[in-house]
This record gives sequence, structure tokens and C-alpha cells, in this order.
Amino acid sequence: MIKNIYRKIVSEKQRIALHYALYKIEAVLLWGNRYECCCCGKSSRRFLSHGNLGLRKNIKCPHCLSLERTRILCMYIKNEIFKSGIQPMRVLHFAPVKGLKDFLKNSPYVSTYIDADLNPNVATYQADMTRMPYEDNSFDLLICSHILYCIPEDRKAMQEIHRVLRPGGKALIVDTIEGDTTRELSHLPAQELKDVYGDEATCRVYGRDITDILGSYGLKAHIIDYVKQLSPEFIEKECLSEAFDSEIVDCINT
Ligand SMILES: [Zn+2]
Repeated sequence: MIKNIYRKIVSEKQRIALHYALYKIEAVLLWGNRYECCCCGKSSRRFLSHGNLGLRKNIKCPHCLSLERTRILCMYIKNEIFKSGIQPMRVLHFAPVKGLKDFLKNSPYVSTYIDADLNPNVATYQADMTRMPYEDNSFDLLICSHILYCIPEDRKAMQEIHRVLRPGGKALIVDTIEGDTTRELSHLPAQELKDVYGDEATCRVYGRDITDILGSYGLKAHIIDYVKQLSPEFIEKECLSEAFDSEIVDCINT
């Protein structure tokens, strides 16, 4: 009841701003240096809890709100994409998370940064991944983390990724990957999707055949479990040992 009244009188944009303000207070209370976040570079004595299917402890940076999967993706971009000598990139970032967004915006390897989402309250630009308002070959790098699984027409989004990337451009896709074969789930009741998969908007769970699906749209893809390439010391410092849903599908536009 109170939650409904709050939602009626306070806009989503205001609620998000308040949400960030409260986290800033929490970040001060968690002052310390045991853990560090590679997205924002800040330290804390512990991370925050988070989870749609039960809270998991010590996983979300209190400064930039990045989860483990975001920190792993950020390290992949730092180590494997932003190499010295590359031309600054035109980057399109869907469903931006604050920590990664700030890192990309401020990177000397980025010439143009556009963050976009279907929901205009969570990104600077509103855009539908299945009908992107961008010219062909507009970007060198496209990032979308945990978004394709909830797009009913995901194949259209893949076509659009291929279209807006220049030949040889890269897409980094992070999504839940389970088993060998993609399972379509949109026929299930919303409550079941929420209870079992943590999000009633879930349309599917991708299998490892996501590389074949992307390949059929001109995106040569391979799956990388990048946390396995990070040192034990770094995993401990960034609190990545329990990370899941963090495999990166690295695609080259052919
Ligand atoms: Zn952070």
C-alpha cells in the first residue's frame, strides 16, 4: 500500500536518484580497504548484498553498484580490448550500469560514448535494440549485459548489432548461459518466471549454442569465462570467487 503510494507520487527518475543517494551514504559507512572495485577504483570494507533469487552477500560495490559480472566485464575490456595503440572507439552501451558507464565515458580509448536503454529513466538515450536509431557501421564496440534474455525478438536485436557495428567491430554480450541448447520460456506464466528465473520478463535462457545463433547473423562469437584468467589475489580483492552468469560472449562483426 505505502509502496504503491510512493510509486505514484515519486517518479521513476526521482526514485533512481534517491536510490543512488542512499547508496552514497552506505558507501561512507562501509569505509575501508579490504575490497576494491576495478570499475570505479574505490575500496570498502565489504560489498553490498544483492540478488533476485535470494540475497547473496558481499557482491555489489557500494560506490558504483557494480556486480561481480560487471567487474569481470570491466577487466576484460581493460585487458583485452583497450590495448595501447588502438584507435579510440565509438562505443554503444545498452542497459548501462553506473560503474562501467563512468569507466567507459572517462576512458582515453573511447572517442564517442552512447548509453541507451528502452527505459528512458535509466540511460541518457532511449533506444530499442530491435530497432536501433543509428546508421550502419556507426560503432566499433557494443556492450549489452543481461538484456538479450528478456527481448522477445532477440534475433532482430542480433541483426541490429550486426548492422550498427563496423566490419571487424566487437560486441560483448553477457547473459545467463546454461547447458548446450537455448530454451525459450516466454510461454511460462509470469509468476513462474519470477520465482524460478528471478525476472518475470525472462523470454529464454541461452545455451552454449548462442555462438551458433549469433554466427548466423554475422557475429563470429566465442564464450569466455574470463574470471579463470584472473589471479587468485585479484579474485579475492574484487570478491569474484562466487561469480556466476558472468561468461562473456565476445563477437567479431564479419
Ligand atoms: Zn565500484
